[in-house]
Amino acid sequence: MLNSSIDEIKSRLDIIEVISSYIKLQKAGANYRAVCPFHSEKKPSFFVSPARQIWHCFGCSKGGDIFRFVMEIEGVEFGDALRILAQRAGVELKRQPPELKTERKNLYEICEIASRFFEKQLEESKSGKEAKKYLLDRGISEESLKKWRVGYAPDVWQGLSDFLNSRGYRKEEIEKAGLGLTSEKGSFYDRFRGRIIFPIFDLNSQVVGFTGRIFKEKDKAEVAKYVNTPQTLLYDKSRILYGLDKAKVEIRKKDFCILVEGNIDAIMVSQAGFENVVATSGTALTPYQLKILKRYSDNLFTAFDMDVAGESATKRGIDLAQIQGFNVKVITLPEGLDPADVIQKNPQDFEKYLKDTKSILDFYFESTFSKFDKKTPEGKKEIAKILLSVIKRIPNRIVQSHWVGELSKRLEVKEEDVEEELKKVKLNGYSEIYGIEPEERRNLSPKSRKELLEERLVTLLIRTPENLSKFKDKFSLFSEKIREILVNLKENGCLDTKKLNQETVNLFNQLTLNSELEEIEEKEIIPEIEYCLKEIQSLEIKNKLDQISKDLKKAEEEKDVKKINDLTQKFRDIASQLTNL
Ligand SMILES: [Zn+2]
Repeated sequence: MLNSSIDEIKSRLDIIEVISSYIKLQKAGANYRAVCPFHSEKKPSFFVSPARQIWHCFGCSKGGDIFRFVMEIEGVEFGDALRILAQRAGVELKRQPPELKTERKNLYEICEIASRFFEKQLEESKSGKEAKKYLLDRGISEESLKKWRVGYAPDVWQGLSDFLNSRGYRKEEIEKAGLGLTSEKGSFYDRFRGRIIFPIFDLNSQVVGFTGRIFKEKDKAEVAKYVNTPQTLLYDKSRILYGLDKAKVEIRKKDFCILVEGNIDAIMVSQAGFENVVATSGTALTPYQLKILKRYSDNLFTAFDMDVAGESATKRGIDLAQIQGFNVKVITLPEGLDPADVIQKNPQDFEKYLKDTKSILDFYFESTFSKFDKKTPEGKKEIAKILLSVIKRIPNRIVQSHWVGELSKRLEVKEEDVEEELKKVKLNGYSEIYGIEPEERRNLSPKSRKELLEERLVTLLIRTPENLSKFKDKFSLFSEKIREILVNLKENGCLDTKKLNQETVNLFNQLTLNSELEEIEEKEIIPEIEYCLKEIQSLEIKNKLDQISKDLKKAEEEKDVKKINDLTQKFRDIASQLTNL
């Protein structure tokens, strides 16, 4: 059932059309190329093959079909990619069984209806109009209000819930959607009352929750500034970032994400032309949110108000981002102003501040040195205490060492002493809480030379299948995956993918694209194959010789004369193979 939908979607959509709706493709012979959207590069190494309906990047090794592309670029799971592409292809997905559908679907519907209710209130009710005036006065445009679906919850006990009741939804359902509560005395009432409403969207722009914000002066002393949807089946605040659905494509394009705290900040920054903005809603960034952000970019620009010595939630989130290897930069705004204020005055000012960002380390250094007296021993100690824990979080050793040097220079103390102190710093249990080691390797392990030679060789054999039988005696030299491909190719004349696992098929697709792009003259192919074979064989022999040398050393230590003689003979025999190659 699922497979037939997938095949139908693939048959209706062309990979070139799908991918070029996200990035700019250029024709390159039979294929298309582009600057890769998944890693940063100047020369394009991202290729799409219309003939094979696959894509592959030679820079970061990502690749696959249209589903994989949509998953990567939209940052969604397979099911979501399927829905997105099904819609695009006009393929109706078979309905889920009713028992699976019910609850989540129901909640999505309630949230959507509630959202429309709030939007209408903002336009039509008397106090809704006041709320709207407040928003317009803060500089938010009519267009932005529509785009972000900003609404208003009337200041009554049962506005939305009565409306939802009239639409056939029960109290229990409204409560499960986080929109209503039951009081101790048993009466049911709306969670959001007399507030501006910002719907919260998931990555597919479906409403899953709400933030309600007061706006009247008289309310400010009495009630909480913000009310949020509690945890529901759809809404988990540790997993959602406000605005990411609208920002994700721009974050990838611009390769950085602007982080702000409030809903209005996000809307204003986006309105000013920086659509790569998300809001954290005043809580600490969670490991899950960071993982999602990392699908789009490694670069975070924060516009938070940050106190280096403080222990705010915001700062903890930034610390975690640093540990996870994000490049964090700080946008420094004039004291007491948030991004919305700056943009309201003049959107160009924000752009100016954005160009003037500092690295988080520079920011921490500056603010710490301005707080304490570096001339006194106590001051030195305080400065070191704060900055060493910042330095400790840097995953890259070289960068870390740079800042150790900087700190020792500015404190006028010996670098060895700073290093000694750095060793003593413990990272507040981050690794225990989040399971992340600061030194966690960020890059994939690079391919070995043998792997690269093998791949080159197979690429050439795919290009000239007539040579397959000529070199069939050498297949045993290759790693299993490669051998599988070659044997399969030779036996069937083409690749019979049914017999291979997905990983091997992916490797084959990649190598095929390689072979199409390979710029090599026909007459050079065989010498090149022979060269690769020779290199692989000599690598094998050298590995064996290495092992024998190690064994020999051990035998010499043990003074085992027989073993020494045997190994020496073996070494000579194998070494002679090397010269015979
Ligand atoms: Zn790439």
